[in-house]
Amino acid sequence: MSFQIAIDGPAGAGKSTVAKSVAKKLQFVYVDTGAMYRAIGLNCIKNDVDIHDEEAVLKLLDNTNVSIKYIDNEQAVILNGENVNGQIRTQEVSEAASVVSAYKLVREKMVALQQELAQTTDVVMDGRDIASCVLPDAQVKIYLDASVEVRAKRRYLELIEKGKEADLKTVEDEVRERDYRDMHRENSPLIRVPEADLVDSSYMTIDEVVNTIVAKAQSKFDE
Ligand code: C5P
Repeated sequence: MSFQIAIDGPAGAGKSTVAKSVAKKLQFVYVDTGAMYRAIGLNCIKNDVDIHDEEAVLKLLDNTNVSIKYIDNEQAVILNGENVNGQIRTQEVSEAASVVSAYKLVREKMVALQQELAQTTDVVMDGRDIASCVLPDAQVKIYLDASVEVRAKRRYLELIEKGKEADLKTVEDEVRERDYRDMHRENSPLIRVPEADLVDSSYMTIDEVVNTIVAKAQSKFDE
């Protein structure tokens, strides 16, 4: 079996930055599952499909092809033949991803793709349901958390850095809303499985978090 590291947690906990760095250090492949749900959300926006209309979203899903490619070691999400990496990081797409990812059939399609990717390759995979659903046998399971205030502040600074207008209170409200939706949905809600190690990144540097996870993986290699 391949070696699998599952990293789950809420938006803004630092999952993708950390997961990418862990993958690089261990020479594993990094799989960003959120990007796949973002591609589904983007597809709805592109096709003027109401994300709250489950039937319409599922109809569109039937004609949607999402796949993953690695270009220069970077994951690229291919939506119906087009690399959409440059289009999936907007606030609108974040919201759409969070809504459409609650639909059972959307999840089934994405989970199948994720499991296929991890079958023969050593992976670091991040998301919301990796330990609980996608890779239940992962050798390392991490629940990466941080307080809402810290996560909102990070997101706010990211937006400011990109030259965008932002209001900290609004960003915090959006973070709370997305957390609520991700944690309370019926299908594969974000949970910390009992065996996952909790890492709170609120007051840790990225390097500290990365080293903690790499050390956990290394101790499993030696078992
Ligand atoms: O991690 P990221 O913010 O890119 O994820 C976008 C959205 O996709 C999340 O808010 C969540 O609703 C959904 N998602 C999910 N399951 C995953 C990864 C992401 O439901 N494994």
